[in-house]
Amino acid sequence: MEHYKIGIFAGDGIGPEIMVEGIKILKIIEQRNDISFELIPGAFGANAYFSHGNAFPDETKAICDKVDALIKGPIGLNHEDSKKIPIDMQPERGALLPMRRRLNTYANFRPVSLPKALGHFSPLKAEVIGEGIDLIMVRELVGGLYFGNKEVGVNAQGKRYVTEALEYDEDQIKRILIEAFKLSASRKKVLHNIHKSNVLKSSVLWNEVLDEVSPEFPDVEVKHMLVDAAATALCLDPSQFDVMVMENMFGDILSDQGGGILGSLGLMPSACIGPDKAYYEPSHGSAPDIAGQGIANPYSMIGSFAMMLEYSLGMHEEAKNVWDAMQGVFADGFSTADLSKSSADVIMLKTHEFGDKVAEKLLAQQ
Ligand code: NAD
Repeated sequence: MEHYKIGIFAGDGIGPEIMVEGIKILKIIEQRNDISFELIPGAFGANAYFSHGNAFPDETKAICDKVDALIKGPIGLNHEDSKKIPIDMQPERGALLPMRRRLNTYANFRPVSLPKALGHFSPLKAEVIGEGIDLIMVRELVGGLYFGNKEVGVNAQGKRYVTEALEYDEDQIKRILIEAFKLSASRKKVLHNIHKSNVLKSSVLWNEVLDEVSPEFPDVEVKHMLVDAAATALCLDPSQFDVMVMENMFGDILSDQGGGILGSLGLMPSACIGPDKAYYEPSHGSAPDIAGQGIANPYSMIGSFAMMLEYSLGMHEEAKNVWDAMQGVFADGFSTADLSKSSADVIMLKTHEFGDKVAEKLLAQQ
């Protein structure tokens, strides 16, 4: 029997609520396969700062090092509460970026997917959605502006100033482009390279490296698009995209727009992959505005578990079963509060009810 150690960092805000639903589904997968999961919880984020005095405590680092894969809930507080934590200990700076760096999870895969049958959840018109939305954003996750040199000070004129550097070397660019080309080669063979080479020198180097890598993937057609134009194109004609590759901050912003065209960030799971380790997390934040109400959409978290089954454990069939089960629940006329207003047409589900329905569907597949 295969045995896997899985780190479980529930996070802040809605994190614990949606994590419970992901674990519910994982238990079903465990019970019907020759596999066992040892779930190892860890404190991470604002909760860890308040309980351990550190957003990424040593105990949690040790868990990262020993597990086969990690699932992470969103972390963070609302704007005002964030001020209760020193700036360098605030969840992204104190926990998330250090974890990404430690695990070297440079490749972030963010599917933006909505079958035609669920097109009513999207704010886009049916004629724009066409046969459905199905693209994947590949975001560089451990370089660029978020990891570059930072300097804060007072200049010669006595003015406060800040400098943040957008840093990449060619190897960092090459490895993420190779991931994107490989993914593209396995899909529709059209790769959109999202950049800003009309302004940023980092994008000029990015594109040079792309030209060097591209001949290794002769079947993949590369299309270049400036990031600002891509933001518009995602709204007007998302069907032109299949795989999109971009640097860290562009990916952070455009992938939230991906959630917007689907209808909610609650539909956005993700996989963060490195050479040795991987972790999985919803693309969104801790949603403090709805935390504790039992109405968060756990699709993003259950989907992140499905991505772990696929990417880390090679359980492609079961991963597909989980996606089918979740979409089946919606197709049966159910909704969650983020996707619909209450009406006679939809039956609204709370967070745990959605998890229960997905579990029922999964069990019915046997
Ligand atoms: P957010 O992503 O938490 O929320 C934006 C909107 O989307 C909110 O209206 C929220 O209710 C909704 N939403 C998000 N996920 C949902 C879900 N599963 N179901 C239903 N609705 C959902 O963004 P924010 O409010 O700007 O940030 C809140 C906190 O999260 C901040 O502290 C931020 O720094 C942090 N954050 C963390 C991560 C991460 O852990 N990777 C990512 C982004 C933001």
